Amino acid sequence: MGKTIIISNRLPVQLQISNGDITAIPSVGGLATGMKSVHSGGDSLWIGWSGLTDEEIPKALAPKIDKALSEHGSSKVNLTADEVDGFYFGFSNRTIWPLFHYFLEYSEFELDNWNIYKQVNQKFADAILKVANDDDIIWVHDYQLMLVPQMVREKKPNISIGFFLHIPFPSFEIFRTLPWREEILEGLLGSDLIGFHTYDYERHFLSSVRRLLGLEVSFNDIHMDERVIKVDSFPMGIDYKKFSEAALKNQNTPPGEQSELQRRLYKHKKTDPDAKFFLSIDRLDYTKGIAKRLNAFEYFLNKYPQYKEKVRLIILAVPSRSNVPQYQLLKREIDELVGRINGEFSTVSWTPIWYFYRSMPFENLIDLYTTCDIAWLTPIRDGMNLVAKEYIATRTDRTGVLILSEMAGSANEMNEAILINPNNFEQTADALNQAITMPVEEQQERNRVLQKRLERYNVEKWANDFMGSLLDQKEKDFSHV
Ligand code: UDP
Repeated sequence: MGKTIIISNRLPVQLQISNGDITAIPSVGGLATGMKSVHSGGDSLWIGWSGLTDEEIPKALAPKIDKALSEHGSSKVNLTADEVDGFYFGFSNRTIWPLFHYFLEYSEFELDNWNIYKQVNQKFADAILKVANDDDIIWVHDYQLMLVPQMVREKKPNISIGFFLHIPFPSFEIFRTLPWREEILEGLLGSDLIGFHTYDYERHFLSSVRRLLGLEVSFNDIHMDERVIKVDSFPMGIDYKKFSEAALKNQNTPPGEQSELQRRLYKHKKTDPDAKFFLSIDRLDYTKGIAKRLNAFEYFLNKYPQYKEKVRLIILAVPSRSNVPQYQLLKREIDELVGRINGEFSTVSWTPIWYFYRSMPFENLIDLYTTCDIAWLTPIRDGMNLVAKEYIATRTDRTGVLILSEMAGSANEMNEAILINPNNFEQTADALNQAITMPVEEQQERNRVLQKRLERYNVEKWANDFMGSLLDQKEKDFSHV
């Protein structure tokens, strides 16, 4: 067997340039962690964009950058600012992202962006072809690179290619509105294995393949030109140990060494031991339903006025894609809603919403997860939602209640949470009431089951299951020859 080549839009390292020197810092995100078992040792390579456009990289530094990246088993694809604009902010984030999350009205169908998307996908494919041998295994990630599998297949018909989609795959009725729908499907079908988070996304994809390309689909195999393409679901997990151990450490930290945030949270808890903290953490994205959650919070306070001065909603909204107009509008809407609701309900001793618009370091995330009694995560549409899994992993004494949208991929594996439809304010308000009044034994029983499942299906298992399935597929292909 040859080497493993991983391809994603962004490399799992951050480049920092200072005083003419380069430092490459490995990312700690979920994907990078999950891929550790796949991307280790000398026989794997990760290809992606570095995050710096050609214009931002001083010519003299280019060789240094390549060297710094190669020390992390990585190699970069060079993109100009125009390419990043058309491919990433344009086609990926203004066409595919909204469409695949059922925000049809936000999807822009711009031919220029589509052309740049094709051109950039070809750049990624060429970067692979430059280093790939026939016995290598290639794993392509996500919606920015859906044409890459076919582009590689054309030149290397026998190479093994897997593709994983990290966002939902929409139903046929939504997907069919895309002007370049056949090209996207054909691009993906260059793979030997196509993975999704859930069985529903898988089903939607198969239905589009059948209806748009007229291909034969039997069970979860697609038959195309003498090849069999397998489609399957692999729900992504988290680094369970990292979160549960950090939570334990957090609880054993002496007061003098606690973070400022933790000290303040404890102080509030001490003043009113019966008060409940609700936690909402998302990137500031219209798919996450933050504005709706704020409206539902107002509805809840009106329906259950006995909780005024007793509950507090902590909102962490992480800045994201802030140069895309819809995100700017949403930011304004959320700012206004927070201001209005706080203005309406605040008293001299109580502010109902604490709103943070920033990203927080890992330690502070753990402070929030471990201190908040109720995690309220209700995206309108979400491929998976890892925050829900992280919250449960940090509840070392098994208390805490998770209210989760049934529209999040993770809801499929988290039946013991309170699952709700985020558009139903009545149900949401009742769910909050149920969470506040839930007996501790019931919380612990629900979380015991959830934790056991999350610990077993962690992110490493996700990566290994996908790779294992891809290798099986390769063996099957050889047995046909
Ligand atoms: N996260 C983070 N910094 C923050 C808030 C969140 O790194 O300030 C992380 C969080 O721990 C989680 C990820 O961001 O791992 C969000 O993943 P999720 O699947 O919930 O949503 P996505 O942003 O991928 O749509």
